[in-house]
Amino acid sequence: MPSSQPDFTESHEKLPVLFVGHGSPMNAIEDNTFSRAWAEVGKALPRPQAILCVSAHWETVGTQVTAMAQPRTIHDFGGFPPELYAQQYPAPGSPELARLVQETVGPIPVGLDASWGLDHGAWSVLLRMFPRADIPVVQLSLDRTQPPAYHYALGQALAPLRQRGVLIVGSGNMVHNLRAVCFEDEDGAYDWATEFDETMHRLIVAGDHAAIVNYDRLGKSASLSIPTNEHFLPLLYVLGALEEGETMRFFNDKITYCSLSMRSVWVG
Ligand code: ZN
Repeated sequence: MPSSQPDFTESHEKLPVLFVGHGSPMNAIEDNTFSRAWAEVGKALPRPQAILCVSAHWETVGTQVTAMAQPRTIHDFGGFPPELYAQQYPAPGSPELARLVQETVGPIPVGLDASWGLDHGAWSVLLRMFPRADIPVVQLSLDRTQPPAYHYALGQALAPLRQRGVLIVGSGNMVHNLRAVCFEDEDGAYDWATEFDETMHRLIVAGDHAAIVNYDRLGKSASLSIPTNEHFLPLLYVLGALEEGETMRFFNDKITYCSLSMRSVWVG
């Protein structure tokens, strides 16, 4: 539990914003290059007052923010070993931050949610990044009825929270095609996956957010990399929340199982 109540005044140094490619839920318990990088990032980051996570795994009608004091750990996957189901991430929630999110993005409506919790898009990463689970976490859902431009605009509206001690984390995958996954070839990469991953790298560095928001115009490699967009949309929140000219560091920039890009970016 936190030793003191979070301080959400505007007195903080602007926090970085992160997009994390989460990939397989097993990264939560495996010691591999991805999970080691998450641990390193957690150590290198300034300690936030709270974390706002936009996970690929929470889609709703209308945007929701978790507002419970103690979110449950959701094991939203099937067919994994018991050890993974035994994992808990008992970080507190923050009803105060949930209300602050509502106020900050108004007039965009955001509902207060009392039923979700932390899904594996959030906890599989946070378990390695902040293993003490002592920083409050809230999740923001993806409104599945909205176009990409809405998610980017909501990211822009959330940007002032960085000054209030909130670490914004988007958790998804820039390339995510589960139907094409080759489970037998961990280090494999389809040409189209590599091509789109490199396109994303180039567009992010160039700050060409319009091209990223309009990813459906980026051709065949984009349609194969984003067959459904829930793993891509968290990136739009991160891009919306950054400012032009901020430092960017890429990490875990690797394709895994042929059709998943773990490419992650730390901004600021
Ligand atoms: Zn996922």
